[in-house]
Amino acid sequence: EEKHPRVAIVGRPNVGKSTLVNALVGEERVLTFGEPGTTRDAIEVPFQRFGRRYTLVDTAGLRKRGKSHGAEVEKFSIVKTLQAIEAANVAVLVLDAVDGISEQDAHVAGYILERGRAVVVAVNKWDAADTDARERIKGELRWKAGFLSFAETLYISARSGKGVNDVLRAVDAAYAAAMAKLPTPKLTRSLIAAV
Ligand code: GDP
Ligand code: MG
Repeated sequence: EEKHPRVAIVGRPNVGKSTLVNALVGEERVLTFGEPGTTRDAIEVPFQRFGRRYTLVDTAGLRKRGKSHGAEVEKFSIVKTLQAIEAANVAVLVLDAVDGISEQDAHVAGYILERGRAVVVAVNKWDAADTDARERIKGELRWKAGFLSFAETLYISARSGKGVNDVLRAVDAAYAAAMAKLPTPKLTRSLIAAV
């Protein structure tokens, strides 16, 4: 199969992952909140944009243990999300601009980095965030997720489609960087700089 970005859309329940997937694809391909059967399993959505292929993977989101759903379902969702990250080459970490960054968000971010996946941060619901909320999450990105500062961070509104194309552009850039083959001298210089 031709190589192309396989993109896991991850984040807490309700941050707007499914809405983002639909906005990217331009049609209602996955269910969003309020509809019966809202994503519990990971769903693959292959699509093409500007002549390029992508496979988006919409995930159930990591639920807080012991909340509303049975423990078995919780565990199942978490495993599904981790598997989706594992099977992807780019992860889009979706955050909620109104809710801010939680411990769970940092946990998923840590897992993405641990697995060495390319990452794009999408701060969603920017439309619903007032000036205070916007300032707050920008601060939180610095002090709670400073280890993600290398990743491209986009402020978007999946529901209105604002900034959604930038997510795709950032995914392309992250994918290209992650898949780059460096000639030996450049690799050596990079390693020395990193050390
Ligand atoms: P998921 O659980 O992460 O897949 O989240 P959903 O895509 O199901 O969205 C959860 C809720 O957030 C729904 O009521 C959406 O309409 C709402 N939502 C999604 N994106 C946005 C956005 O950009 N702005 C606002 N204000 N609400 C959004
Ligand atoms: Mg969903």
